[in-house]
Amino acid sequence: YKIDVAKSSHLPVQTVDGVSVKVLANIELPAEIGHAKEYGADGIGLFRTEFLYLSRKEFPTEEELFLEYRKVVETMAPKPVTIRTLDINGDKVVAYDQTEEEANPALGLRAIRFCLKRPEVFQTQLRAILRASAFGNVKVMFPLISAYEEMVQAREALDTAADSLKKDGLAYNGDIEVGAMIEVPATVIIADMLADIVDFFSIGTNDLVQYSLAIDRGNRQVAHLFQTFHPAVIRMIRQVIEVGKSKGVDVVMCGEMAGFPINLPILLGLGLERLSMNPPAIPIMKNAIRSMKAGDTKSFMDEVFTKNTAAQISDLVHQRFGDLF
Ligand code: PEP
Ligand code: MG
Repeated sequence: YKIDVAKSSHLPVQTVDGVSVKVLANIELPAEIGHAKEYGADGIGLFRTEFLYLSRKEFPTEEELFLEYRKVVETMAPKPVTIRTLDINGDKVVAYDQTEEEANPALGLRAIRFCLKRPEVFQTQLRAILRASAFGNVKVMFPLISAYEEMVQAREALDTAADSLKKDGLAYNGDIEVGAMIEVPATVIIADMLADIVDFFSIGTNDLVQYSLAIDRGNRQVAHLFQTFHPAVIRMIRQVIEVGKSKGVDVVMCGEMAGFPINLPILLGLGLERLSMNPPAIPIMKNAIRSMKAGDTKSFMDEVFTKNTAAQISDLVHQRFGDLF
């Protein structure tokens, strides 16, 4: 089928007053890369890599992973593709690697914790990502970072993979950009320290809201309390962006919050210039960005910070910007 998207979706996007915003795509399957391109993505801001590990009998090989990653990277080149390393065992579990049952999987051996505990699994993926980096513009990021030393260890694992490729005479980008996902409140608080050892931050609001407000992101009973406009959430996002600006570290948002126009006044007001979302949201967000003045959102934020509740903030956004969307 053909996706009917306005030509303007493929053009770079700026606010009315000239602030450029990168609008990137989140994908879960290499097959979605076509959609991402058709919808006008400026790159892939989040390539979730769990799919190759799920619904199968054993861990994938380096070659399998490399071929899939290369396909995505070559299709998007020269635009960037941010590959996130394996994030299993929270909501997604691999059947062939049943470890001990966990009472609280969201707080358990998930994501980067799993990978650091299973160096052979991690090295296989890191080598595949690095090999794909020779075929386009690849960045790599680590999910669920919760401590400085975890980021150090993840970087060391990446160096180990690079050294082994060098020994094998295989090509890779030695200057690959490395990022930390900001999805645990502790990393917001130590963002200034992490800034010294990363090239970028990517804010994952789905988990950041879950962990900061203690709301299971998949539990309908508490879905009404999953508030991206919670003053604590907005203050955390502000802090990450401020650290990023002062330390010269790029900040992207790749959680669901980045894909809804009604959130734009706050995201632009906080100074975010990179948003990553599900591909169908891209043309909608590009249109919305073109209708906004970033300058208007700055003074608006002063008012946002006087509000005590998500409901008050939501009312304020609707009152001021509701007619735009
Ligand atoms: C997030 O947590 O916001 C995120 C983008 O990652 P995922 O939804 O895959 O956990
Ligand atoms: Mg997450």
